[in-house]
Amino acid sequence: MTTKLAVIEKPEVAEEITVTSFLQETCGDDVYPMLIILNVDKPDAKITSHDLNCKWVKKAKATSLKGVGSLKRDGGWMIFTEVADAREFCEDRFPRYKVKTCGTCVEK
Ligand SMILES: [Zn+2]
Repeated sequence: MTTKLAVIEKPEVAEEITVTSFLQETCGDDVYPMLIILNVDKPDAKITSHDLNCKWVKKAKATSLKGVGSLKRDGGWMIFTEVADAREFCEDRFPRYKVKTCGTCVEK
């Protein structure tokens, strides 16, 4: 006889929102050669700029605290087609945040 110490209930799997699925939903099959993906990190007051092929962008997905294409309590992954728009977003919304380019993107 076995005793169950804990039953781990799996929550219903909600459809996962990733940067790729968000793009598919908003842009369809339009291809943008140069996308700027900003990771807005509210707890650390910093913004990291990525390109679409970065492994961090590929791993990114929406959580209850972090949005994709929207900002939540801890921030979110924001997607821009123009560098100027991304820059304006940072300056307008988060003027005090540190903005840096992702080291992993640059490495490639
Ligand atoms: Zn990156």
